[in-house]
Amino acid sequence: MKVVRARHYVTGETWQLALDSDALASLTLMPPEDEGSIWLAPLLVDLQVNGLRGIDFLDPDITIAQIEKLAVSLQTDGVCHALPTVTTQSKDRISQALKQIARAKATSLECRETFPAIHLEGPYLSSEIGPRGAHPIEHIRPPSWDEFCHFQEAADGNIGLLTVAPEYDQSFKFIQRCCDSGVLVSIGHTAATGEQIARAVDAGATLSTHLGNGAHGSLPRHPNYLWDQLAEERLTAMIIADGHHLPDEFLRCVLRVKDHSRVIAVSDITGLGGMPPGRYPDTSLGDVEVLENGKLVVAGQRQYLAGAARPLWNAIPRLLASKTLSIPETWDIVSKNPGRLLGLVPEMIRHPKKLDAMVFEWNPSRVSSPDNDPISAFRLLHVIRNGIDLTTTNQSQA
Ligand SMILES: [Zn+2]
Repeated sequence: MKVVRARHYVTGETWQLALDSDALASLTLMPPEDEGSIWLAPLLVDLQVNGLRGIDFLDPDITIAQIEKLAVSLQTDGVCHALPTVTTQSKDRISQALKQIARAKATSLECRETFPAIHLEGPYLSSEIGPRGAHPIEHIRPPSWDEFCHFQEAADGNIGLLTVAPEYDQSFKFIQRCCDSGVLVSIGHTAATGEQIARAVDAGATLSTHLGNGAHGSLPRHPNYLWDQLAEERLTAMIIADGHHLPDEFLRCVLRVKDHSRVIAVSDITGLGGMPPGRYPDTSLGDVEVLENGKLVVAGQRQYLAGAARPLWNAIPRLLASKTLSIPETWDIVSKNPGRLLGLVPEMIRHPKKLDAMVFEWNPSRVSSPDNDPISAFRLLHVIRNGIDLTTTNQSQA
C-alpha cells in the first residue's frame, strides 16, 4: 500500500490517498496544512490536439484502435477531455478524418468520454505567409456553408469548434450560421482588419485560436490584429503556453489584459508529441526533428518550430511562474474555462472509485532566476482516473 498526501488546490485541505498497486483503496480527509508542495487538482481539458505519440488524426490510414489508443494516452498525461483537431486539407481528406473520429466515438466508450467534440481548424484561413502557418496553401479557401454542412455531416454532427479567418466577404454570414447551428467559432490564422474582427465577434465568434502564433513575422505597430483581439472583451484567448511558442512577456500581457477567466491554454500537440528525440524525415509536417528539450523544429536547425510537442500539463508551471496567477486561477485556464465551453467542467469527487485528479509537486523556489525553466519546479506525480492510477513512464516527456 502506498500512501500519498496532497493538498486540495483550492481549499488547502489535505487528502490522504492510499493506493493498493494502481487502485485507490481509500481517501481520507486530514486537517489542512499550510505547508507542503504536493497538490491535488482536477484533470485537464485540451481544445486542440492534432495527434500524439506517433498517431496523427490526419493520417489517411488511422484506425479506430489508434484513436482509442490516443484517448488513453491523453489520459495518462492528465487530460480527461480533448478536441481532436483536423486541419486544412482537401475536402475528401478532411471528410475522411472527420468520419473516422465519428466512427471511433460511435464504437468506443473511451473515445466518447475523451473526445466530446471535434475542432476543425481550417480550411477557411488566411493564405498569407505567416498567418497561414503550416496549413497547405493549395487547400486554403474562402468559407463555404455548403461545404461546412458536408463536413458536419461527415463528422456525424461532432464539429463543436471551428477556427476561421474572418476577412472573406462571406465571413459575417458564415460565422452567424455556424454559431446558430451551435458551433463555437474562433478567430485564427488571420490577417483581418480591426473592422473585420469586430464584425466576426458581432456575428458570434467568441474565441481566438493560439493568439500570438499563426501571425506575420512583422506587424504594423498599430493597429494590428493582435491588439484588436486583445482589446475585444468578448473574445477569450486560447494560447500555447509550452515555453516555445510565446515569449513570457507576451504570455503575461495576455494574462493581465484578458484576466484568467478569459484565457484558455491548449497544447496544439502534433503526432510527434511524446516521441523520443531524433529526426523524423517523413511526417505530415515534413522533415522535422524532436530536440532533447522536447522542442519540435524543422530538421537541420534549432530556431523554426514545426509544431507543438508538449502535453498540456507543461503549461501549468509556465502559467504559475508568470507570477500573476494562483493555482486555482491556473486551473481555470487549463481545465475549468475550456470545460465550461464544452459543458464538461472536471471535478474531484471524494470517493475512492470515482476520483479523477492529478497529483503534482510545485516548488516555486526552484524558479529562482529568469534563466531557470519553470518546468524544473514542477513534477506530475500521479494521474488518477475513476480511482485508478494511470501513472506510467509516458509522463517522462517534458
Ligand atoms: Zn494553428
